[in-house]
Amino acid sequence: MINVYNTMTRQKEELIIDNNRIKLFVCGPTVYDYSHIGHARTYIAFDVIVRYLKHSGYSVFYLQNITDIDDKIINRAKERNVDPLELSHKFEEEYLKDMELLNVKNVNFYARATEHMDEIIAQVQTLIDKGYAYDTETGVYFDVSKFEGFGKLSNRKLDDLQNVRIAVDSTKKDPKDFALWKKQDEEPYWDSPWGKGRPGWHIEDTAITESYFGPQYNIHGGGLDLIFPHHDAEIAQMEAASGKEPLVECWMHTGFLNVRGEKMSKSLGNFITIKELLKLYSPEVYRFFVLSTHYRSPIDFSDEILKQAESSLKRIQNSGKLLMELSKSTSLPDEDESNFAEEVDSFRENFFAAMDNDFNTPIALSHIFDFTHKLNKQLANQSLTNEVIESIVSTFKEIEEILGFNIVSLDSSSDSSDAVLDILKDVREELRADKNWDLADKIRDELSDIGISLEDK
Ligand code: AMP
Repeated sequence: MINVYNTMTRQKEELIIDNNRIKLFVCGPTVYDYSHIGHARTYIAFDVIVRYLKHSGYSVFYLQNITDIDDKIINRAKERNVDPLELSHKFEEEYLKDMELLNVKNVNFYARATEHMDEIIAQVQTLIDKGYAYDTETGVYFDVSKFEGFGKLSNRKLDDLQNVRIAVDSTKKDPKDFALWKKQDEEPYWDSPWGKGRPGWHIEDTAITESYFGPQYNIHGGGLDLIFPHHDAEIAQMEAASGKEPLVECWMHTGFLNVRGEKMSKSLGNFITIKELLKLYSPEVYRFFVLSTHYRSPIDFSDEILKQAESSLKRIQNSGKLLMELSKSTSLPDEDESNFAEEVDSFRENFFAAMDNDFNTPIALSHIFDFTHKLNKQLANQSLTNEVIESIVSTFKEIEEILGFNIVSLDSSSDSSDAVLDILKDVREELRADKNWDLADKIRDELSDIGISLEDK
């Protein structure tokens, strides 16, 4: 049983899905520049959520849109004197390459806004026909006063709409009405019953989800910043157009990746692109870093925490390396004298319980960490049986599939001296805890003779 926090009800709820088939939509990027590591935080979080849902037996269709036409794209294209669609398709390609590098691989279909103009136009027409939208000289607008309950996701009042990015336009009935279609003669434009133009900010998502999923589906995700007004506008558009509610059963939102308390964003200029980060850290380290915080909580980005993530991951992988080496040994015991099989079972139980509890990856990682600590002791005295080793390896492989980084599936030719050193450190800690100072000091002195110094905390 998986419990998921639903932004709409503000509580964790048991995930109940008909036929075990999940239709999931997550808002994709606006592609006018290289993606930054804040975007990556959100997409890695949903990647792991999808991996876990699949592992739990659900069949998931994961749909993402690509905003390939919008004001920011047009402005950037003007600055660079290039065609807006050429610009957006270049950065879409870069985004997809970045996702591939980060092992974010579960999106079934990326739907470009510009390839769904017929669906967008049809949905705008339905809203006009049903009296929820009106046509003016400058565009077609959604009449927010006609939709009772606008803001039910964010719990914000209609008046808040005045403070967000809605263009001032004297042709609108109310300044809070938002654009479904923006009229313009300048390229790029598309023909519509209301003249040349392009879609507004929110309509592409509901037109796209309606064409692949219908008017209602299971899960909608995105970053916290999209709750208001974007997701509230989606609810208004689709529920008004279809007459059916709710648009989705469960709303999931990721917390921000912050820099010194401020959201990392292109507009604030405090961003690090995924490409820049991957020059310094491996994709696995970044995934580990992201998963060390719960997906709904903010992450404060710092080099120091990334370095910690790097060393924690290395410790886990070092145990994995030694485990794989030990699995090749021909002189393993027949009896599981230390009852380590029980440790493996309780580790599995704890790991999956954490993931079932709203995908609590930091707790799941802490169980991996505790378990590898215990495992290191068994590796040092070579007391594991073949059967126990096999069950640990298969559990680690399952976890690799879910979290998307390696533990045991590493290059076997890589150097294992770090791994041996980790084990020696763990053994020494145990010896010191047992007050076996002589042996602990002997290990420290002999390591010092070969140039490795250990400091006792
Ligand atoms: P955008 O291209 O700005 O529309 O963003 C694409 C997705 O990335 C949205 O779901 C955003 O909420 C998310 N996102 C953008 N910046 C951050 C950040 N600093 N931390 C987490 N998610 C973010």
